[in-house]
Amino acid sequence: MTATIIDGKLLAQRLRGDCKLRADRLNAAGITPGLAAVVVGDDPASKIYVRNKLKACQEAGIRSEEHALAPDCSLAAVLALIDRLNADAAVHGILVQLPLPAHLPQAAVIERISPDKDVDGLHPHSLGSLLSGHARFVPCTPAGIMEMLKTTGLDLRGKEAVVVGRSNIVGKPAALMLLQAGATVTLCHSQTADLARHTRRADVLVCAVGKPQIISGDMVKPGAAVIDVGINRTPAGKLLGDVDFGAALQRAGWITPVPGGVGPMTIAMLLGNTILAAERRATALGVKLGA
Ligand code: NDP
Repeated sequence: MTATIIDGKLLAQRLRGDCKLRADRLNAAGITPGLAAVVVGDDPASKIYVRNKLKACQEAGIRSEEHALAPDCSLAAVLALIDRLNADAAVHGILVQLPLPAHLPQAAVIERISPDKDVDGLHPHSLGSLLSGHARFVPCTPAGIMEMLKTTGLDLRGKEAVVVGRSNIVGKPAALMLLQAGATVTLCHSQTADLARHTRRADVLVCAVGKPQIISGDMVKPGAAVIDVGINRTPAGKLLGDVDFGAALQRAGWITPVPGGVGPMTIAMLLGNTILAAERRATALGVKLGA
């Protein structure tokens, strides 16, 4: 069997179109949705990711601003910037591009963001609300994963879902969302004994490890929906996922490509969360939004 490829680029384009309509509605009511991106250091990959996010904002009618800080900037300087952005009424969403340089404690920085502006969904408030089943902001990558799974038409209730990788950004929230959708979830990580034993019984397999082709074709259950989150750059500059795409394509029912899969969806969900933050602000101000 040859799997259906879930085209994240196309799906993201559709979602970004919806965001544009919602942004237009806000703009018509006098509110311009705004996103502030904080980048610390000069990691080339981070700079590309932020540039892509800001370009997507512009196309969707969201005002964006980039705040670049030196690689050796102090924690106090980062927190002071976040305080300023928290207080700025023109900024509805704040994202801090990760990873941060090693001397900056990630948790302290993320926790400083106002929960109302946490459009990456990584603040403990957001993660706690996700855990309780009433998410305020859903982390962007897992939200994108769930949108991609929707396109398969699979009823997730009772399905075996296996998530490989347990980061706070991807693996853990993805596992929670699959659980809420009714799947029976197994969360694997670097200490998991016999990874293949788990992946082979997955109706839904989400891989978020960051090791090229750690999932070989024979680790995929025939007919499974395979979501490959990993982004790995070869020495020649080629992008590879965590899954051996060519081999898995012959076994899976659905599969996401790298690039052009989860990456564009993450950006689309960030735009959606930023608009949501601006819509909530409008509601709080009593501003009526048109149909
Ligand atoms: P982390 O490094 O934070 O987490 C990686 C996870 O993989 C850890 O839980 C680790 O386990 C687990 N792991 C490592 N080795 C193995 C192994 N041999 N078998 C099973 N599990 C293993 O990464 P992220 O979650 O931040 O990102 C994962 C990948 O997804 C990266 O390639 C990243 O670039 C990509 N990514 C892509 C995004 C997109 O939009 N497309 C967005 C975010 C990330 P342990 O906890 O035990 O160490």
